[in-house]
Amino acid sequence: MISQNAIDTLRKTEIGARGLFIDGAQTDGTEGANLTVTSPIDGRPFASITDGNAADIDRAVRSARKTFEKGSWSRAAPAFRKKVLTRFAELVERHADELAVLGVRDNGTEIGMAYKAEPLSAAGTIRYYAEAIDKVYGEIAPTADNVLGLIHKEPLGVIGVIVPWNFPLMIGAWKIAPALAAGNCVVVKPPEIASLTLLRLAELASEAGLPAGVLNVVTGRGSVTGEALGLHMDVDAIAFTGSGPVGRRLLEYSARSNLKRIFLELGGKSPNIVFADAPDLKQAAIVSANGIFRNSGQVCVAGSRLLVQAAVYDRFMDDLLAATTRLKVGDPLDLTSDVGAVSSAEQLNKNLGFVARATEEGARLVTGGERILTETGGSYMAPTIFENVTQDMQLAREEVFGPVLGVMRFETEEEAMRLANSTVYGLASAVWTANLSTAHRMVRAINAGVVHVNTYGGADITVPLGGVKQSGFGRDKSLHALEKYLELKTAWIAL
Ligand code: NAD
Repeated sequence: MISQNAIDTLRKTEIGARGLFIDGAQTDGTEGANLTVTSPIDGRPFASITDGNAADIDRAVRSARKTFEKGSWSRAAPAFRKKVLTRFAELVERHADELAVLGVRDNGTEIGMAYKAEPLSAAGTIRYYAEAIDKVYGEIAPTADNVLGLIHKEPLGVIGVIVPWNFPLMIGAWKIAPALAAGNCVVVKPPEIASLTLLRLAELASEAGLPAGVLNVVTGRGSVTGEALGLHMDVDAIAFTGSGPVGRRLLEYSARSNLKRIFLELGGKSPNIVFADAPDLKQAAIVSANGIFRNSGQVCVAGSRLLVQAAVYDRFMDDLLAATTRLKVGDPLDLTSDVGAVSSAEQLNKNLGFVARATEEGARLVTGGERILTETGGSYMAPTIFENVTQDMQLAREEVFGPVLGVMRFETEEEAMRLANSTVYGLASAVWTANLSTAHRMVRAINAGVVHVNTYGGADITVPLGGVKQSGFGRDKSLHALEKYLELKTAWIAL
């Protein structure tokens, strides 16, 4: 784990102006425009990034395509790709302190969580796919004797990666690592308010020996660089994590351009269901509070809808309130903070808008609901709980992506199932019960990519992550994700 001393030294590092990363080197944008990077910790600017444009995206895509065609990566021996990616993972691990603090200055996630979830998790992901490279076999088809049907697995070509600001390194690595392992070249469009760690990641990849042009990073606004990547005629697929509206745009861009594949990991409104027979209600309350409030609720799988069975409702709410008020919100670079800053002032205002609407619609505010620590200049929000939430309210239907929990009471298992599925989303969920049959029935009934049982939010790289319904399609993580970046080609040989 990182030490407070290391954090205090690294938080003072001058960052300055960061360029794009194209064709293996830092480069200026074609227009020379910059975006100021403001830290949500204190509301102060501390760096600037290039405000890229369509010409910059085109430069990066051309570099990626040229490199792909050359074959120095796409046709390199798997053993070579494995060696480079393993070295890349080691370098990310070695720079974990630097990457973690840089990322927290950018997006405000509490360092305890950021350290594990960002550099360490990204390094683990890169290593996982490095190790997988030389275990992917083609197939021989069961044809008649007079022919030979060979099924090859080939890289797609140029992959665009577009990620959100909550965990840019971790989510970026979930896409970049399998895409590279499969032999593709990549152009990353980082989130405009948290680009710094992905730029640094590309430098480390280059230091590890990744050939120039294999991994490129173009910063800038989503509506400009993201759109240019989505519409580019020479991008074969886009792997996206972010909001539903931008996901829909990417599908449109694909239809308007070259029918590139689009993989979408979108938002959620995930139900966390506590039955009266949960094995340990106190523990369930603690985990549930963490499951919505860590990283200020800016977690795609956050358990933002809590359903509690009536028989234990009052007791559970007391425990939940106690667990919530114990969470220390504060400087995300202080190791004692449980919850850091909201990623930006804009996001904080959005969250407060949800609070106002929930109050208007008749939900009861149990705790929080306000901006705090204003004297710091940063964007901090008190963990917020509303009860008496009903299905027709905005808080039950729309993703806040902030530290705001809506609680509902239920009587029966059928009612819990109905409420759980009453949303357009289907990303994550949880069930707390000691009854094995109830747990299995709920796992089958809930429409979501993951159903946790007697926990919330646990996972690792070995299991797929992704949603159903309007939470998107296509899975990150696990060997299944590797398949997304490979295409099947048949050789039909007359003997
Ligand atoms: P967002 O959709 O606004 O932005 C995501 C990315 O898309 C950013 O890099 C942005 O610059 C880019 N973008 C914006 N407009 C674009 C356009 N017109 N064309 C192409 N790209 C464009 O989302 P956000 O606010 O950064 O992140 C929050 C959202 O991400 C939430 O909805 C959250 O649930 C979701 N999310 C989902 C997962 C998951 O795994 N399912 C994980 C984390 C976050």
